[in-house]
Amino acid sequence: MTGQERSEEKSECVSLSPMMEAVPAPPESERVCVFGTGDLGRSLGLRLLQAGYGVVFGSRRPHSRSSLLPHGAQVLGHAAAAQSAHLIFIAVQREHYDFLVPLANQLKGKVLVDLSNNLRKNQYPEANAEYLQSLVPGAEVVKGFNTLSAWSLQNGPSDANRQVYICGESVEAKQAVIAVATKLGFSALDQGFLSVARELEDFPLQLFPQWRLPLRISIGLSAAFFFYLLIRYVIYAYVTQGEDISFRIMVSLANQVCPIVSLIMLSLCYLPGVLASFLQLYRGTKYRRFPNWLDRWMLCRKQLGLLSLGFAFLHVLYTLIIPIRYSVMFWVTEHTVSVIRENRTTEFDTTTAWRGDSYLSLGILGFGLYVLLGITSLPSVSNALSWREFSFIQSKLGHLTLLFCTAHTYLYGWNRFLSSSTYKWYTPPGYMLCLVLPSVVLLLKLLLITPCVDRTITRIRQGWERGADQRNPKDSQPLIP
Ligand code: NAP
Repeated sequence: MTGQERSEEKSECVSLSPMMEAVPAPPESERVCVFGTGDLGRSLGLRLLQAGYGVVFGSRRPHSRSSLLPHGAQVLGHAAAAQSAHLIFIAVQREHYDFLVPLANQLKGKVLVDLSNNLRKNQYPEANAEYLQSLVPGAEVVKGFNTLSAWSLQNGPSDANRQVYICGESVEAKQAVIAVATKLGFSALDQGFLSVARELEDFPLQLFPQWRLPLRISIGLSAAFFFYLLIRYVIYAYVTQGEDISFRIMVSLANQVCPIVSLIMLSLCYLPGVLASFLQLYRGTKYRRFPNWLDRWMLCRKQLGLLSLGFAFLHVLYTLIIPIRYSVMFWVTEHTVSVIRENRTTEFDTTTAWRGDSYLSLGILGFGLYVLLGITSLPSVSNALSWREFSFIQSKLGHLTLLFCTAHTYLYGWNRFLSSSTYKWYTPPGYMLCLVLPSVVLLLKLLLITPCVDRTITRIRQGWERGADQRNPKDSQPLIP
């Protein structure tokens, strides 16, 4: 350090703790520097102090920033701060990175952690971290910590977001950053070289990428069935009988759309697994990629399942409020009064009672299992399960849920399947349409669990390939000698 720099440090140094003079400064390895005293810089500084690091902030205006910074931190001008630590966090927006160019000498050999994010994808031709490296070629740039927010850093290690992704060219520099992340209570995941930085910078800009397709499917199905049922019930009653039953839109129609969408989405959650098994059976090997559409579909099964649980939950709520609906109370009272007035007697029908109770019971069992599937898909719960436990719940109990919910719907239809009055304007009711897909999935699954098919699929999944034993040895010769 030159004499001029030393005097600069002395004049710019602001100790935030009155005890600072008495407390010996921590060694350089235990000292880190943070450039920028904004939201992220301050939260990170506080967390570093709590973890036992000495923190030196680098700021354009060290004197005016001192009152904002966490107690125990030092604040210096950039040049002086850079010399106090080997590891420097750059908590400054990318647009201002050119202030680092004149500091190239002080930053030589230092580890610079680039925390920056962008406002949108592809905002700049190169990743921020690569840009930083080009500005300060003598430093070792590591991208990292950018997926954490200032808020989550302040919340401490109990916050759910515990992962820190890093990438960079130098192994030593990455190890230094991993050591700090670990001491702060995060688990650091090394993603590779600096060329991955753009991917890491895009992480915070993602908007539910896995949910997009399931959300589109659920919205599309809801809209399609809503209009279908509107025509079949409300418009049909108005056109054929002149009756206005439009009030049914709010609860009755919604309570038909929700279970229909829920059952179709649950089937869509299990259909790709069944299709994948048949594809493996057909190909006689598991060593060939599934088509892209099937891969994509399989990746969003969890989201499909959770959305279908949401629709099932709405169906339960709509069903529970049926007794307090004005129209229902009116018709029940009206019916009771007319029975008394006309002195009619009605016979108790055991078959109807059996059907009603079985229908409700299967619905309750199906919903109970649905909730279990939803709970076990939460990462905190699934992490506590062994692979066998997880697949037992998600696959075996999942198919049982589909079976219960499908049987619940068949019982709802009961003998109405055979009555011609059910088919208004020659169209089947919504619940009949929604039974097609789950019935197909269950039938295909039944085929897959028959002993001979199950044996073959198990062998394929263990690595067996059809025809591998009889294959011409010439065929298996490498293409390049
Ligand atoms: P901020 O509140 O605006 O603070 C940025 C700091 O940069 C300022 O406080 C200032 O500190 C310094 N600065 C501003 N203009 C400068 C210039 N021309 N030259 C040198 N330094 C300048 O921003 P932030 O929210 O802390 O974010 C900082 C970086 O972290 C950004 O790149 C952001 O994308 C990234 N990030 C932020 C969050 C978050 O939750 N906030 C999360 C992840 C990543 P001095 O006045 O002391 O010099």
